[in-house]
Amino acid sequence: MPTELGGIVTELMADNFTDIVDIAFTAGMEEKLDDVEQDGTDWKKVIREFYGPFEKDLEQADKNIEHVKLPEKVSDVICEKCGANMVHKMGRFGEFLACPNYPECKNTKPIVQELSVPCPKCGGVVVMKRSKKGNSFYGCANYPECDFVSWDKPLEEKCETCGAYMVEAKYKWGKPFKKCSNPECATNQKKKTDAKS
Ligand SMILES: [Zn+2]
Ligand SMILES: [Zn+2]
Ligand SMILES: [Zn+2]
Repeated sequence: MPTELGGIVTELMADNFTDIVDIAFTAGMEEKLDDVEQDGTDWKKVIREFYGPFEKDLEQADKNIEHVKLPEKVSDVICEKCGANMVHKMGRFGEFLACPNYPECKNTKPIVQELSVPCPKCGGVVVMKRSKKGNSFYGCANYPECDFVSWDKPLEEKCETCGAYMVEAKYKWGKPFKKCSNPECATNQKKKTDAKS
């Protein structure tokens, strides 16, 4: 799905660089470059023909295009420090919520995603969070009353061997797989000895 920024950039390109977003023009350019390769056409002439008008477009765009400010997506999460509705921002690890009254108020919050699976410890809501390093983990929304926390996504399914909840585990690369959340469980012990032999 195209992002809002992508849409804005495309629009700016179409308005200010009519040539380079024109398919007939870019196809013609490709042909001319093929001629350079195959027929030994003078590349400097080809580039000069392109760059002359392009340079003018660039100058024009530099004058016409104002600094683009993305409209802020306002959330229904209230900043507990100043009472403002927090807004969505893009950070290094994806979207997060920030107080619109920055820099007076520096409050930020991660965006929490709720799982449909109930908390294995208290039956409450499990949310996906991100650690400071950007890794996702799962925790109970009733924290600190409930201390359920897991790197692996909890599943509703229960282990046939020990009855503990199952998780969707993942190696750094590769497909997710199901395993028992209980490290003492025989199913996990077996895998460990398998790996050793
Ligand atoms: Zn605030
Ligand atoms: Zn819980
Ligand atoms: Zn088990």
